[in-house]
Amino acid sequence: MSFEFCGNENMLSILNNIIKSRKFSHAYLFFGDEGVGKKFICRQFAQGILCEGEDKPCGKCSNCKKIASQIHPDYFEIGVDAAAGKQGFSVDDARKLIESAYIMPNEGIFKIFLLDNVETLLAACANTLLKTLEEPPKHVIFLLLSNNKPGVLKTVLSRCIPIGVYPVSNESCFDNVKLKFPNEDEKTLKLAANLSGGSIGQAIFYLKDPVGQKSVLIAKKLLDSYFQRDELSFIQSIAPLADDASLSFAVFKCALAGLKLKIDSELKLNKTPSENFCQKLFKAFGCFEKAREILTKNGNKNLTISRLCAEIF
Ligand SMILES: [Zn+2]
Repeated sequence: MSFEFCGNENMLSILNNIIKSRKFSHAYLFFGDEGVGKKFICRQFAQGILCEGEDKPCGKCSNCKKIASQIHPDYFEIGVDAAAGKQGFSVDDARKLIESAYIMPNEGIFKIFLLDNVETLLAACANTLLKTLEEPPKHVIFLLLSNNKPGVLKTVLSRCIPIGVYPVSNESCFDNVKLKFPNEDEKTLKLAANLSGGSIGQAIFYLKDPVGQKSVLIAKKLLDSYFQRDELSFIQSIAPLADDASLSFAVFKCALAGLKLKIDSELKLNKTPSENFCQKLFKAFGCFEKAREILTKNGNKNLTISRLCAEIF
């Protein structure tokens, strides 16, 4: 079967070589923007490591199937939902993970631990995991995932093989989601592909996930009311975010992507956009970026929203 992934030919060739050589490092760091498919490719890589078929990952052997359905006793996925600001991984969980790492695998020759949002995860459980991550038992392979490579501790980074996963072109993203959502109209698909900046997972989030769908609608309303200088409508549109951290995060991200698209289209249509328009765009960009950053660091949601409203106009 081999890997099924859009674009990223270099990365796929590196992974294929690792699987064929059967010489595994104890830790790999898959880095790249949210939604580019890090977890998707990591699962296939884990299949490739434990696969018993000829063309690894075959997708058909018992190990491949068990990993695909998340029931393999030697494959674990652990993560913190950074976008929602949830600290779902405790020091106790870290201790359990370490205990399990030192126990021999049940079926295969390796135990594989996929750690998602690794920079947030390590911040959540401090030094408990570090030593095991740096020097795990020989039968353990860590697959670390990060949306923010510079945020990963240097001690961890220096002991990992870094593997970059990159967005595809907006056109390839559109082609891909079109296959996945054949009944969706082209305009919606194109908007999702463009807003995602070529991250297929992000485009799927905008098309399928209720939070993603809602975030596109709210971000559009916010940007429209901002450019029409309709302060009341802006405040009304932002109100539903006050009680929902993951929705606020998604809306700010989507608004930033929408502003980027606006800049691109403005430059295409009009080579010298007016100074006033540019100032407005950059001001909005700065305000949304700041709000998103504060939320990423788990800052006060209501205060962030009030500040955004006060500063943007
Ligand atoms: Zn297999």
